[in-house]
Amino acid sequence: KLPNAPISVSKVRVIVRVRPFLAHETSSRNGVVSCISVLDQDFESPQDEVTVYLKDPLTSRNECYLLDSFFGQEDNNVGQIFCGEVSPLIPGMFSGCNSTVFAYGATGSGKTYTMQGTEEQPGLMPRAMSMILSICQRTGSTAQISYYEVYMDRCYDLLEVKAKEISVWDDKDGQIHLRGLSQVPINTMSEFQDVFSCGVQRRKVAHTGLNDVSSRSHGVLVISVSTLSADGTGTVACGKLNLIDLAGNEDNRRTCNEGIRLQESAKINQSLFALSNVIYALNNNKTRVPYRESKLTRILQDSLGGTSRALMIACLNPGEYQESVHTVSLAARSRHV
Ligand code: ADP
Ligand code: MG
Repeated sequence: KLPNAPISVSKVRVIVRVRPFLAHETSSRNGVVSCISVLDQDFESPQDEVTVYLKDPLTSRNECYLLDSFFGQEDNNVGQIFCGEVSPLIPGMFSGCNSTVFAYGATGSGKTYTMQGTEEQPGLMPRAMSMILSICQRTGSTAQISYYEVYMDRCYDLLEVKAKEISVWDDKDGQIHLRGLSQVPINTMSEFQDVFSCGVQRRKVAHTGLNDVSSRSHGVLVISVSTLSADGTGTVACGKLNLIDLAGNEDNRRTCNEGIRLQESAKINQSLFALSNVIYALNNNKTRVPYRESKLTRILQDSLGGTSRALMIACLNPGEYQESVHTVSLAARSRHV
């Protein structure tokens, strides 16, 4: 732990994914127009960024933001996102690099669809697992998963029979530990499906009496790999990949939250803001990265910055102008270089 350790040169990529209109959305309005498009590149604009253009069809208000890449409304582009943006993060895990992928956006914008997907259209989580398993098979490494959620700044293990609270502590070397978090070895995709879907189910029912906590907590799937040590006597941990379905961000000026909802929403916004501050600091080579501002960023301290690589996917509902501006502006703000 060097006090003046150089801040990473690896930037956090920030990309946009727009989901298609859903059947009930197209049938209830006539002539649905997407609020979101991408502007054509001109000769002077750098090749490695895109201009996302948002326009409110009702009021004609509009905004532009610069981001790293754009995936439009075609529903089957998760494969493209996986190949182009996520699969490059995986080989590094086998040489000790940690990476993180976030899905960020309002409730209903397609975060869970992007990360988990469906049986016909698997999301980034099962796709990453499958690629990791095939590398393990070739190299003799092993993979294991943990799955937990961060709700109101507390962490709950979702692979335990009863979602159990786990504590977070830093050791003397500044490493973060989640005390007692389960790690389940995974050898095949069907083992993964069994273990993970139990966790997903638990996330849905863990907080009885509270509605739809699953979109009001951050869901973190960690896939880690271990290799046999050089002398063959034991396994050594290598890298890990965090795949995170973030809680839906809300604009409290628009939603009328009260009581527990307001507290939840305050915690969510606080942690998302802290995350954007951390990414901003990393992308702009700040000497101080404010990891300690929230539980979420504290947990991710060893997976953001340093040699780690990260990807933030801003998910958008094409029919929601104000909400999309809210999401994209925060995403663009954390990217800003
Ligand atoms: P969030 O997790 O952000 O709240 P969801 O992933 O649950 O949002 O998506 C909201 C709805 O939109 C769901 O019914 C989901 O099936 C649908 N949906 C999201 N993204 C897509 C997509 N790319 N193609 C088809 N349907 C999608
Ligand atoms: Mg969701």
